Amino acid sequence: MKALVAVKRVIDYNVKIRVKADHSGVETANVKMSMNPFDEIGVEEALRLREAGTVSEVIAVSLGVAQCQETIRTALAMGADRGILVQTDAELQPLAVAKLLKAVILNEKPEIVILGKQAIDDDCNQTGQMLSALLGWPQATFASKIKISDGHAEVTREIDGGLETILIKLPAVITTDLRLNEPRYASLPNIMRARKKPIVTTTPEALGVDVTPRLAVLKVEEPPKRQAGRRVASVEELVDKLKTEARVI
Ligand code: AMP
Repeated sequence: MKALVAVKRVIDYNVKIRVKADHSGVETANVKMSMNPFDEIGVEEALRLREAGTVSEVIAVSLGVAQCQETIRTALAMGADRGILVQTDAELQPLAVAKLLKAVILNEKPEIVILGKQAIDDDCNQTGQMLSALLGWPQATFASKIKISDGHAEVTREIDGGLETILIKLPAVITTDLRLNEPRYASLPNIMRARKKPIVTTTPEALGVDVTPRLAVLKVEEPPKRQAGRRVASVEELVDKLKTEARVI
């Protein structure tokens, strides 16, 4: 069976984010971009499933500007077999991404689709859920363990109260959480090998998907600066301050 993994190009998690002077968004010019960390975990999981003989092929898909090729190359260097780029300069919101992924999935017919639980740029945490609804497939979000057998996935999910294990029928959409695995680094020979792996480029128009944004960003602002802390003289004073000054946020 095939596994399809979505890999998003985002601002690298080490970069200090700067808001644009006109408050229309964040600065992306001359900023280091990388694969969304949750998507690295998705690629790693798909590769482990292939190494275990469960999956025969791993396809990495990215949607966005031409430079998303680099993100796909990273997935190929980690070990993915081939890539698909849905290229557009348009702003892609989660619903548009879900519709585009659905179109790619209907062409490719993977049994397992892995996304990150969220992209660290907009922190939407929406695409996997929307995709599963559009496909009418089961979903298992926030996965910290995946076991595939007999056409089913047993997925342990990280939920507020601890862990939950569910059994879902394949084909299904799974989104990754942090503890699922530790992604491998691409070795130099694999980076070289990845250059020869195929990437097919398509467009939203070719897939027949309207990607017009449904949401408008009104203003982007820096979060308020963190206030300096205060030292207390005793545990009693601390408890008193917690009772009288602590705010629930
Ligand atoms: P979000 O709902 O925006 O937090 O994104 C959740 C996940 O959807 C990401 O971790 C990716 O796996 C996938 N995704 C979202 N946008 C894109 C994109 N432009 N290209 C590839 N994958 C994406």
